[in-house]
Amino acid sequence: MAKRVHNFYAGPATLPLPVLERAREEFLDFAGTGMSVLEISHRSKEYDRVHQDSMDLVKELMGLKDDRKVMWLPGGASTQFYQVPLNIQQEGKRSQYVNTGAWSKKAIKEAGFFGEVEVVASSEDTNFSYIPKDVEFSEDAAFAHITGNNTIFGTEWHYMPKVPEGVPLVNDMSSHLMDRVLDFNAFDVIYAGAQKNLGPAGVTLVIVREDLLDMVPEKTPTMQKWKTHAKKDSLFNTGPVFPIYMCKLSMDHLKEIGGIAAVEKINREKAKLLYDVIDNSGGFYTGHVTDKDSRSLMNVTFNLKTPELEAKCFEEGKDRDLIGLKGHRSVGGMRASIYNAMPLEGVRELSEFLKEFQANNQ
Ligand SMILES: *Cc1c(COP(=O)(O)O)cnc(C)c1O
Repeated sequence: MAKRVHNFYAGPATLPLPVLERAREEFLDFAGTGMSVLEISHRSKEYDRVHQDSMDLVKELMGLKDDRKVMWLPGGASTQFYQVPLNIQQEGKRSQYVNTGAWSKKAIKEAGFFGEVEVVASSEDTNFSYIPKDVEFSEDAAFAHITGNNTIFGTEWHYMPKVPEGVPLVNDMSSHLMDRVLDFNAFDVIYAGAQKNLGPAGVTLVIVREDLLDMVPEKTPTMQKWKTHAKKDSLFNTGPVFPIYMCKLSMDHLKEIGGIAAVEKINREKAKLLYDVIDNSGGFYTGHVTDKDSRSLMNVTFNLKTPELEAKCFEEGKDRDLIGLKGHRSVGGMRASIYNAMPLEGVRELSEFLKEFQANNQ
């Protein structure tokens, strides 16, 4: 047996063990071809089957309507920061964004290259420790943009902002796609880098309401148009076949364990275990997120009293095979990323460790 640890890295992140095992099993001989999936044509019927299934699985698991186009694109979520305005910005209109952290800021910066951007709400005043309440967008906005889960700060949207009819709502769901049951059709554009909650690095899932695909200016380079990829089912050119294949396997796995509703139950249990440790620690651990309604199910961020104590906690965690608990440099402290693929058992071990660490160090 290979050594496996509990991996709390924020992304690339842990993948379900059965998925890795299946990939290993098929690695040298994919679908009876006598070749690896890395070695065959993206237009072969064996790969095409995986490719079509991967898009069908997204639709099925998320309950997407027929008018939603699922695409697999390269370039990471960061590429979507500019491809969103490039594809749906309308001449003379301003886009509206909510600034809930580092990734929102990067998205806002890129949108600025395509026209006026208005930040309608922000939680920067407290270093992004909450999701702004009662957010509303304007009727005359080109589109509205939120970051569904803020990986670095540990906040997550648990309500729908008010968006006037006709204004497309865009959501960067990179770090919480499929973490709980949601009306995914409420969003007109969803994008998510795969390497957090879906699969490995190298591909971005983009879901667009079909009628928006025609908004792109004609004089846009071919590869930058969503429409190009949508028309060809993401096979316009040679796409990132291996990451797509891995995403497909991990969605097979999600389906097998009961889909999003089933994983949501486990995710809530996992998050509660850690937030309870923080809340019951009498201040030994303090959560970065001040508003409990904004707490993320995926990234649990917290601090200890001093950076020295945090370093000690991190090192002792590592000795117990609890890996990747250092917070992002902009927040400091600790962060446990507990994506869909993190088993309940891993979080149990972490919460036991944190309780012991407190008993030994307060
Ligand atoms: C990681 C992350 C990104 C950037 O993703 P890349 O695929 O590395 O470009 C964007 N948004 C959020 C919310 C993220 O967590």
